[in-house]
Formats: sequence, structure tokens, C-alpha cells
Amino acid sequence: MVKRDRLADTFRFLVEIDSVSKEEAAISKEIQKILESMGAKIFIDNAGDRAGGNTGNLIARFEGNAAAPVLLLNAHMDTVQPGKGVKPILKDGIFTTDGTTILGADDKSAIAILLETIRILHENDLPFGPIELVFTICEEIGLQGAKHLDFSLITAKYGYALDATDTEGIITRAPAANKVEFKVHGKDAHAGAAPEKGINAIFLASQAIAGLEIGRIDRETTCNIGIIEGGIATNIVPNLVTVKGEVRSHDEEKLMEITDRFVSGFKTVLENYKKATGEEDLPRLEFQVESDFYRTHIPEDHPVVTLAREAAENLGRKMITKTTGGGADANIFFEKGIITGVLGTGMRDMHTVRESIKLDDMVEVVELLVEIITLHAKKAS
Ligand SMILES: [Zn+2]
Repeated sequence: MVKRDRLADTFRFLVEIDSVSKEEAAISKEIQKILESMGAKIFIDNAGDRAGGNTGNLIARFEGNAAAPVLLLNAHMDTVQPGKGVKPILKDGIFTTDGTTILGADDKSAIAILLETIRILHENDLPFGPIELVFTICEEIGLQGAKHLDFSLITAKYGYALDATDTEGIITRAPAANKVEFKVHGKDAHAGAAPEKGINAIFLASQAIAGLEIGRIDRETTCNIGIIEGGIATNIVPNLVTVKGEVRSHDEEKLMEITDRFVSGFKTVLENYKKATGEEDLPRLEFQVESDFYRTHIPEDHPVVTLAREAAENLGRKMITKTTGGGADANIFFEKGIITGVLGTGMRDMHTVRESIKLDDMVEVVELLVEIITLHAKKAS
């Protein structure tokens, strides 16, 4: 049923349209045209204004021909850099680039797969219930599209995001994450003439960082310092440094515990300095802890899992539940009460210029989705 060449053409067409984060308007227009030609009702929300992009999330609704609970299907339209002027190469059944850009299979393989799936449902007059396709913006810059999605436009209570590698896996567990930001205020002074009049903010921040446990804390918990900004010149004692990091865990309590350790690490270093020097106002700590996304945990017996498993079995394939350490739009949907499992498309080496995808894998995922959707409709009726 899957038209392999058509799927390849759609994929090639999509990756040739530049759509780095905040610049998804061009690709969104093309996807809209295709969806409208298939009879979808289209909505664009105002997430673009809020995320600083040139268009919003694209939501397309198909009523279907069978009575079944609404299914959500999601992919993101944006890519990372270097993502402009992509020249896809298809050789021996594998898409790559010329090595100067990413491919954008993350996540345009998903978009191509979803479009082909809807085409097949229509062409073959297969039974399917209502479908809500959600194509988000700005996923790669902190799930900004999903975070600002107009959820009043969505009625689905569960569904699938396509944004992973493994075509025989469904991600059902993702960690919660906190973002942390510290500003250490010290005092500036001439580093050569009067260093004793200064308080070195960078030195204090480094002491705090050196006392932290970083990287993998345990099987389900990680933490990282990712950005340090501060200082003006080598001959000035720096009066300000900003340190940004994150903590992730599948366990909410551990998330809080490690986040607290981060904060108290900085506090202690600054307090000790004050005690030792008798200083009162400086150094001063400003910090911010922000929840980035919540924990996702889909039970094994949820329809999202059982449906995917049964569909895979019908096709003679495996479907195993998986845990990820990463964040995706699905985490935000889950937080809003839409139980969203993440399926793979076959994409490999994402976020690198070596990114690739096998056409065969994309074909298999279309087959899987068609099976999931028709099975879902049959079960409901
Ligand atoms: Zn992605």
C-alpha cells in the first residue's frame, strides 16, 4: 500500500525547505496545502507570537469515517542548525546530506510519514476515527511550540509523537527536568593595582561548581552545568558571573533533592566567604529554579501502548516500551493530560551533519501507523 517513491519525494521536498527554529512559516504553508487537498480542517495558533517565531503551531483535523476516540499524531516542523540549504542525497536506500548541513529527518521524516499515512487511509478507503495532527514549532529550542500550544484546539486524550530513532520501540518514560540559573555578584577592582578591594565572582562560582556532583548521578538522575558567562577583562576582578545548568530525574523527589544540592552548594560557598571576611552585602547570590517539563510515565496497559504492541504484532514485528533521558513535545502533552507515546522513524545521528535515515524504515513506520489507526477504529466500533 505504501507508495515508496511518493514517500521519498515528500521527504525530499520537506527537507529542502529551510525551517530552523522560529522560521517554520514556509514549511507550514506547504504542509497546509497538502493537508487541505486531503480535506483537513486547519488551525494555526498564536504560539509563534509567544515563542518569537514567524508562524504558530499547525493543527489539522480529519473527521475520519468511523466512530473512535480522537487520536493525536505529532511531529515538529523546526530543525537545528546548520539546517539551511539542505541537499538530500538518496543512495542505496539511505538519505544523507553532502555533509555541510544536518538532514532534518528530525523531524521531517515524521511529517512525511504522517502525510503518507493519511493518503493511504483515504486511497484505500480504510476505517479510521477522528485524527488531530499537531505540527509544532520551536521544539528544538526548549519545546517552545508545545509549551505555548493552544490546547483548546485539541480534543484528543491520547496519541503518538514521532520523534525518535527505534522503529520497534515506544517511549513511555521520560524524566522531569529543572532548569537552574545562578548569578554570583562580587565586587570589581583593578586586578593588578588593588585586587584586595575586589570579590572575584568567577572564583566563587568555580568553588561552588567544584563542590557539586555532575553528570550521571544514578540510573535515573542526571545533572549538568552547561553555560558560564562572566567577566570583562583579564585586568578586572569580575563582579558578576552567570552559571546555568539543569537537573533531570525520573523520580520527582530526587529531582528536588539534586536541585536543592545545587542551590545550597552556591549558598554555602558565599556564606563561608562572608564569614571569613566579615563582608555583609557582598558576595550576593541570585538564583532561579524553573520546571522545564514534568515526568512522563505511561502505564503498560494504556491503550497507547497496547494498541502499538498489537499493531506491531499484526505486522510480525516487535514493540518494546522504552525510557528516554531526553525531553520532547510529548512531555508537554502528557503534562496537559494527553497521554503521548513517542515512536521512532528510523532517523539516526540527529543534530549532526552525518544525520541519515533509511527509506525502508520510513516505509515500515507508515505501515505501523496505518495498522495502529485502523485497528483503533475497528476496536471502537
Ligand atoms: Zn526531534
